[in-house]
Amino acid sequence: MGIATNLEQVRKQIEDVNSQYQRELGAVRLLAVSKTKPIADIITAYESGQRLFGENYVQEAIDKCAALSHLEHIEWHFIGPIQSNKSRLVAENLDWVHTLDREKIAIRLSEQRPESLAPLNVCIQVNISGEETKSGVHLEELQALVDLVISLPNLQLRGLMAIPAPQSSEDEQIRVYQPLLQAYKSLQAQLPNIDTLSIGMSGDMEAAIASGSTMVRIGTAIFGSR
Ligand SMILES: *Cc1c(COP(=O)(O)O)cnc(C)c1O
Repeated sequence: MGIATNLEQVRKQIEDVNSQYQRELGAVRLLAVSKTKPIADIITAYESGQRLFGENYVQEAIDKCAALSHLEHIEWHFIGPIQSNKSRLVAENLDWVHTLDREKIAIRLSEQRPESLAPLNVCIQVNISGEETKSGVHLEELQALVDLVISLPNLQLRGLMAIPAPQSSEDEQIRVYQPLLQAYKSLQAQLPNIDTLSIGMSGDMEAAIASGSTMVRIGTAIFGSR
């Protein structure tokens, strides 16, 4: 099926699940994950009204931003691991980073963000699946990184992000998300600008929305398998 049709279906699915949990219309934003996909696919999605795109690899992200800089209101979200030698490229070219999990990278991104641009929007990546992935801070370490990020002038903390290990059922997936949702709520109670809980991929979109997601990151269901 085509990208335009896929997008329409994903949007409908998001609103269906969202309304089932009685949250307001549009409470869940859609990030289209275009990693490894050609620029033509991004243009097709853009022409179908999609504005938020997610990329995992720095050089690929930069090339795509440059090629599509003429498209108005397009927004680039970095969702891959950031090595310190690539932080400058991210700070200079992207609108969002979802995968901040180290103090050193936070400091570099803030220092390297050009003054001519708005502060870089960031989500702190939280590790909620134990040892299965090395990325993300553990919940016990979250507050320390929050305190640092909010002290940095060129970063704007927007919320939390996670990539949990896939579970065998939707109920189990929802259960795994609960500690993250609690942490998100307490962060929101602390800070007025927190509005993003970045959870949900093609395989667990419904469980993530049921667990309070405000931004799902969807690749395969829009662009096909990689
Ligand atoms: C690739 C990727 C996605 C999209 O995954 P799909 O299963 O294709 O929807 C979302 N988030 C992150 C961090 C990714 O790396």
